[in-house]
Amino acid sequence: KYAILNGKMIARSEAKVDVEDRGYQFGDGVYEVIRVYNGKMFTAKEHLKRFVKSSESIGIYIPYTIDQLTESLEELIEKNKLHLGTIYMQITRGVAPRNHAFPTADVSPTLVAYTKEVARPEDSLNSGVKTIIMEDIRWLRCDIKSLNLLGNLLAKQKAADEGCFEAIQHRGQDVTEGSSSNVFIVKNGVVITHESNNLILKGITKDVILQVCTDNNVPVEERTFTLEELEQADEVFLSSTTSEVMPIVEIDGKKVKEGLTGPVTRKLQELFEREIVKQCGN
Ligand code: PLP
Repeated sequence: KYAILNGKMIARSEAKVDVEDRGYQFGDGVYEVIRVYNGKMFTAKEHLKRFVKSSESIGIYIPYTIDQLTESLEELIEKNKLHLGTIYMQITRGVAPRNHAFPTADVSPTLVAYTKEVARPEDSLNSGVKTIIMEDIRWLRCDIKSLNLLGNLLAKQKAADEGCFEAIQHRGQDVTEGSSSNVFIVKNGVVITHESNNLILKGITKDVILQVCTDNNVPVEERTFTLEELEQADEVFLSSTTSEVMPIVEIDGKKVKEGLTGPVTRKLQELFEREIVKQCGN
């Protein structure tokens, strides 16, 4: 398999970085994960726009246009004969003697992309997943898709330790998001999810869901909701690039309704499927 390192297509096994790469030492960089269905990228433009935005928000400037990035990722998919999977890409501030302050402008960023074959989580999409609730201990710029994921990792591991798929995080009484997903509730037919501000990542999947809701007259509210609303919800689901529209059937050992995927979640899964087919065929 192949990877792209700083604009060059090389063997995956040859893609190496220096021990003083700032991504390795400080997590000083940002990343993206893009889904590939049927050999085609889903919502590529949205992901690449977010990549540029995240990157520029920490003062790293990507030396390629979105069109150039798209083209090289398409080449990578073809080289790796990727049919169903993901592209991981990240940019760091580059290699420089270890020092917290940014290096001088002559240090160029390290940009890498590689692919992975990933099946769709069919079983979980059908029967739903279990979750735990925990305090959100992350920083206040969760809108940046930063490589610094310790808070997210600790949350995900706690969920895993309890035999669960995801941790639903909250700040005080307000639900924010999962460790690697956005969280939605459905109450009386209304789909509710946290507004995209500095406390959550503006999920590309979340935005697709909001758009299909609008297009199909499913009422939505993008606003903060509380732990109490979560507990009293008719349906709960999460969204992410790899989890798509994932039903949540249990929270902290308590079943959501009867512990079955709800009708609104099902409908959104169908509408999401249509978006995939529209962009990537079937
Ligand atoms: N929130 C966090 C913290 C994430 O890491 C992710 C993605 O992995 C998401 C939300 C969902 O974003 P997307 O739908 O763009 O994958």
